[in-house]
Amino acid sequence: MARKHSKRDQYRELPEKEETEASVAPCWLCGRPTGKTIVWHHPVPKSRGGRDVVPMHSICQQTLIANFTNSELQRHGTDVESLLAYPAVRKFVDWVANKDPDFTATIAKKPR
Ligand SMILES: [Zn+2]
Repeated sequence: MARKHSKRDQYRELPEKEETEASVAPCWLCGRPTGKTIVWHHPVPKSRGGRDVVPMHSICQQTLIANFTNSELQRHGTDVESLLAYPAVRKFVDWVANKDPDFTATIAKKPR
């Protein structure tokens, strides 16, 4: 009968704004911040049992696919340094360094 005083609206939840730009994941290969399109790449190919994924630019993933076979990618696994040791990858990373995060291009597959 007696209405109790509601204490419920004594506190208000403050809207949290924690979306900092620094939280953008850097690309696994080139280290630049990822753009609008993040590709979740399997360092060890899925078909080879790889479960971990890393954020990448689609152009960077294309470069890996163009330069390495699945077995090579499996061998390198998450060791990005060993991939960067390849002149072709190094050259690409240096070249893409000044490009826009959303820059894309078609990476031609090299004849092996
Ligand atoms: Zn990248």
